[in-house]
This record gives sequence, structure tokens and C-alpha cells, in this order.
Amino acid sequence: MHRTTLGDFELTIFSDGLYHLDGGAFFGVIPKTMWEKKMPADQQNHVSAGLNSVLVRTPKQTVLIETGIGNKLSEKMFKIYGQPAKLLENLSAGGVSPDDIDVVINTHLHFDHCGWNTLRRGHKIAPTFPKAKYYVQEGEWHHASRQFERDRISYISDNYDPLIESGQMQLLKGDQPILPGISVKVFPGHTAHMQAVILQSGGRAACYISDLIPTSAHIELTWGMAFDLFPVDTIESKKQYYGESIPNKWLTIFTHDPRFPWAYVNRNADGRMVAEPLSNSK
Ligand SMILES: [Zn+2]
Repeated sequence: MHRTTLGDFELTIFSDGLYHLDGGAFFGVIPKTMWEKKMPADQQNHVSAGLNSVLVRTPKQTVLIETGIGNKLSEKMFKIYGQPAKLLENLSAGGVSPDDIDVVINTHLHFDHCGWNTLRRGHKIAPTFPKAKYYVQEGEWHHASRQFERDRISYISDNYDPLIESGQMQLLKGDQPILPGISVKVFPGHTAHMQAVILQSGGRAACYISDLIPTSAHIELTWGMAFDLFPVDTIESKKQYYGESIPNKWLTIFTHDPRFPWAYVNRNADGRMVAEPLSNSK
């Protein structure tokens, strides 16, 4: 169990399990001879990726950042990625029921980030977290709805359209606060409107940076994923992020790291990026 405190907030990682991604796609233009030292691939060139959600308990509310893959993948998608579908049982084992969640924040709408937003009940789609308000960027939803050839496979409309239709999901326009100490900030690159979630309490801060820096193996500026729609923007956004996170000692939370869900990322004397895992996280 990975748990830590941040001022008045308690942060706990809940995983939806591990899934497999093609190592080449995961590391973009980086040669395999370099990335396989950090993340070994199997015979099919698959690497194991994590699906880390964060539960944030503030003194007043319970917030879930990201909802994994869920259990609604088609047979074809299931064959490609697997469907671990562990989030609800892991939440339950941690004493958290779906009714406890007040707010759900999706950084973007790729299927591996919002899968448990909804459940299929018979022929109907229902919210998994019935009492929660859900948030995502409006621009991300517009992009998802347009179904571009390049990335329409990444979007499953049952994860969000029913929530938008019912008014349970709110569409945000740019950077803004969600609750006291919890805000979102758009970092373009992976998609144009992917938002990070910034947590601030008691003079400390953490950031769920999502697919801008998906694992501790992606901390160098040029180590981006082939999935990124705007790779040059990914580099600029990473620079901007480190410009705030390093001097202010932000804890960086990694969405797809199977081993280290969070770390302090610093630049060492040689100019290399280094991730220092959180020592008190257990
Ligand atoms: Zn993504």
C-alpha cells in the first residue's frame, strides 16, 4: 500500500492493476537498447504498465484522481491490452466504497484513465461513483468526440458521454481550482488539453502529472511516448512543469509506473534527471 500525507491531505495509491503496452510505443523515439535497461520487455516487446489512481482525503471530501481501464473493453481491446479491472476491489479492500467518492477528476479521456467512470448495468451505463461530481477539460471531450483516425481507438464514449448528458460530469475551460488546495492545470503534449492535478496543503505540494511523465523512466525531457499527439509540446510542458516542481519540491505522481507511483524528480550535477522514490511510502 502506498500512502503518504501532504499537510492536511492523505494520499493513497489505488491501482486498477497492470496492463501491457508495446515498449516501442511507450518510449517513442528512444532506442530499445536504451529503454529496455529501465523497463524490460517480454518476447512480444510488451512492457508492464501500472494504472495508478490516487485517493485524496481532505478534511472535508474524498477525491479520486483517474479511474483506470475499468471493465468495459471490447474483446479486441481486451486482447491487445488485457483488462485487469482491479480498482473497485482494491478500493474496497482499503475500506472505500463507491458512495464515499465526492469528486472524480480525469486528466484526459483515454480509455486507460477513465474506464471506471461508469459501469454497464444490463443494457444501461451507470455512474460507478453515484454521488461524485466528475471533471475533465471541455477541449479534451471535443477532441474525443471528433473521432480522429489517429487516436479514436483511445476513446470509449461510454466512459464519459452518459455522465455529460446527465450533468454529472462538468467540462472545464482551462486551469482552475476544484476544491480548496486542489486545482487543475493544462499541460499540452500528450493531448492538447490533458490536465494535471495539483494538490497543495500545509505548505507542501504534489502533482498528478498523468501522461506528460507516465513513469519514472520518462523523466528526461525527450523520453516521451509515441502516443503523444504533440511531442514538441510535451518537451515544452515538461520544462514548464520542472520549472515549478523542482524549486518548490513538488512530489510527482506517476500514472503508469508499475513500481514507483511517486517520487521527487530533480536535476543532478550532470544535468540528468533523477527520481528519488518516497522513502516513507509503504
Ligand atoms: Zn493517455
